[in-house]
Amino acid sequence: MSLRELVVLGTSSAVPTRRRNHNGYLLLWDGEGFLFDPGEGTQRQMLHAGVSAHDLTWICVTHFHGDHCLGVPGVVQRIARDRVTHEVRAVFPAVGEAYWERLRHATSFGDTSVITPLPVAGESARLPAGPVALTARRLSHSIESYGYRLDEPAGRRMLPAELARRGVNGPAVGVLQRDGAVTLDDGSVVRLEDCSAPRPGQSAAFVMDTRLCDAVFALADGVDLLVIESTFLSEEAALAAEYGHLTAAQAGRVAAACGVRRLVLTHFSERYTFADEPRFTEEVRKAYDGDVVLARDLMRVPVPKRASR
Ligand SMILES: [Zn+2]
Ligand SMILES: [Zn+2]
Repeated sequence: MSLRELVVLGTSSAVPTRRRNHNGYLLLWDGEGFLFDPGEGTQRQMLHAGVSAHDLTWICVTHFHGDHCLGVPGVVQRIARDRVTHEVRAVFPAVGEAYWERLRHATSFGDTSVITPLPVAGESARLPAGPVALTARRLSHSIESYGYRLDEPAGRRMLPAELARRGVNGPAVGVLQRDGAVTLDDGSVVRLEDCSAPRPGQSAAFVMDTRLCDAVFALADGVDLLVIESTFLSEEAALAAEYGHLTAAQAGRVAAACGVRRLVLTHFSERYTFADEPRFTEEVRKAYDGDVVLARDLMRVPVPKRASR
């Protein structure tokens, strides 16, 4: 069974609070583990969440403010200490490479050779990530910041009743899927289109520190799962604009405009407590009537199942 699930490791912007660790998000996707923005304390949060360094295959840093990357040294050294043998690719803004290097080699430790740095530059960059495509897009923040998006390629869903009706079974099914057609023993040809239906790929986007800009909408367009910062409520819209952040109302408008299926709000300012959560939901609801999750540390949020036909 494929597992597609977000493990929330931390949800606080700027500074950790009693209830919220610095940022940290692990998106588990069919055996890949995309660790987004490991803030301070991520290594210990992973322990609490029941995930390990062996679950990581990507580290994606949106930008080099501390709440998004101070956990890199601990995570990197844990990858080394636990003798992770598979490749772990690290994506980050190229302009911040000096910060990456410092975090990557922050202290003395028995180093590892499995981490491959992949700095990104320009408006957008596309990175092959095994079965999915990973896209980075430049956002608008006080320093250079990138959002990320995962896309599974579209495929086809086999229709067992149609296969049975045409007498396609056993290895012939594999041939049909691989070659697009199969010739049966009686000489008849069955085409893939006859026995399958289009299956749109699933997608997820991760949008951290940014003002509202075109890249936010491009990243979120039609995704099944959108994880997005909503540092402030609208009453602090001026602060949000000044520091390059989003409000919950803006996040809701993005989700509505983009047809997002499940919206996860996070990166909350330390001025808010759990008691303020209904106010975030209320702002989102002015524009968006889909599924909303207010992230809390150690939550697990499944990527919604495919919409049935
Ligand atoms: Zn931040
Ligand atoms: Zn920031």
